[in-house]
Parts: sequence; structure tokens; C-alpha cells
Amino acid sequence: MVSKLSGKVAIVTGAASGIGKAVATAFAAEGASVVLADIDTEGMSETDASIDGETLTIETDVSDSEDVDKMVEDTVDEFGGLDILVNNAGVGTFGHVTNLSNEDWERTIGIDLNSVFYGSRAALPHLEDSNGCIINTASISGRGGDHGLEAYNAVKGGVRNLTKALAINHGPEVRVNSVSPGFVLTDATQDFQENEAIMDEYEERIPLERGADPEEIASVMVFLASDAASYVSGHDLVVDGGMTASAGQPK
Ligand code: NAD
Repeated sequence: MVSKLSGKVAIVTGAASGIGKAVATAFAAEGASVVLADIDTEGMSETDASIDGETLTIETDVSDSEDVDKMVEDTVDEFGGLDILVNNAGVGTFGHVTNLSNEDWERTIGIDLNSVFYGSRAALPHLEDSNGCIINTASISGRGGDHGLEAYNAVKGGVRNLTKALAINHGPEVRVNSVSPGFVLTDATQDFQENEAIMDEYEERIPLERGADPEEIASVMVFLASDAASYVSGHDLVVDGGMTASAGQPK
């Protein structure tokens, strides 16, 4: 059986944990050579050790354009090209605009949104050569507002729209899509997972009555990266167990 991503070279940012770790693992299992990029070198080593396949780890701060340029250059030097870029690294920042500091706002924009600009700018010439694709991790928080997550709402909305703009301007050579997870069981949501009241509320709101395992986001990214999605571009694929399917009417 031919693997879905065999012969492909992929970069996955935020690969040290959570969704990025699951994506890197799933891509390698489908035959891709995978570059793990993260600021957390210890976590990356753990991901690397757990993957059965060809990998390269590159310490990268995705909010630093020089680091991101180097990430892409080192990948192309090592593997001779690039087929898939997953801009996944991100942070959630709690707070209202009335109490967020400039530093919190700019840090969120740097890691969650500037990273997608830097990564796409560096990778696009190579992806044009390979007829490759970009997958950005957005969020259902990019499709509306949340209580106390205003910076995150802003950046993830930006990621969704930048995805569409990139798809329009870089086809037909490159496909560009985003994935918008709902509630995923990763380190980033650990505090919620330990809060019974919040977990009850999630169960109430999510038709599938549970959070997602990171692997359930990764399998969707394998689809988007593969030939099975050869006519999918400019799409934001919501993977939220049905959480945002409601029109908002009370029960
Ligand atoms: P996570 O905290 O498990 O993983 C995030 C990774 O990003 C970590 O490995 C971290 O080291 C890395 N990272 C942080 N800052 C970085 C930087 N400056 N440079 C390089 N790497 C950096 O979280 P996760 O839940 O796996 O989140 C992955 C993505 O999914 C994020 O973009 C997040 O916004 C998005 N997302 C998560 C959820 C959820 O419920 N967990 C929902 C929707 C969207």
C-alpha cells in the first residue's frame, strides 16, 4: 500500500507537544520526512524519539522572522525541497483589551499571526516549485468572539483570512487551507480539563460530548496535505465535534 505522504517533505511548527506533535507523528507514519520546529528543544527531542521515520529538529522561534527563514533554508538544504508547511505553533492569551498589556498583545500577534506571514513568505517559493501546500492551525475562536480571549480572537481571525488570501494569490501552484479546532485535550487546555464546571459546560455544548484528542486534528491535516484534497484550497475546516453548529437558540 502506498502511504498518503510518501516522498513529501513537511515542516510542522509547534511540534514539541499537543496538536503539532500529533501532526508530525501522523505525517511521518504516512511516509513524509518531517521537520520538527519549536522553541521547546526538550519537548522536540521527546517528539523526535517517539517518531518512527525520517526527521530533523530545528529550534525555531516562530515569532522571529530570521529564525523562520533559517528553518525553511535548513529544511531545503537537508531534503532538497519542501512540499508541506504546517503553521501550527500558537498560544492562547487570556484578558480583555482593557487589561491586556502591549507585551501580551504583541506576543500573541507575534507567535500566532506573524509566524504565519513569516513561514508562508519563506516557504512559498519552494512550495511553488513542488506544487505544495500550507496548512494553518486557526481555531473556532477565529470565527467569532469568546469571553476574555480578545487577542486570541483577533489573531485566529487573522489566520483564517490570511489563509484565504494566500489561497487566492498563490494558486494554482500552492493550495492553502486552515483547520479550526474546537476544544482539544492538550497542555494548552490543561486548566480547563481540571475544572469540572467547565468540562460539564463543554459536554453540554459539544454534540459529541467530549474534547478532541490531538490525533483527531492530525488526521484531518493528513487529509488536507494529501492528494485526496487536491481540489481543496482556501478552506477553513472546522473540527469541533459540532460545537459551533448551533444557531444559538436556547434549549
Ligand atoms: P500546546 O501548548 O500543546 O502546543 C503549542 C506548541 O507551540 C508548544 O510545543 C510550544 O512550545 C510551541 N510554541 C509556543 N511558542 C512558540 C514560539 N514562539 N516558537 C515556536 N514554537 C512555539 O498547544 P496546542 O493545543 O497543541 O496548540 C497548537 C495550535 O492549536 C495553536 O495554534 C493553538 O492556538 C491551536 N488550537 C488549540 C486548541 C485547543 O483546544 N488545544 C483549539 C484551537 C486551536
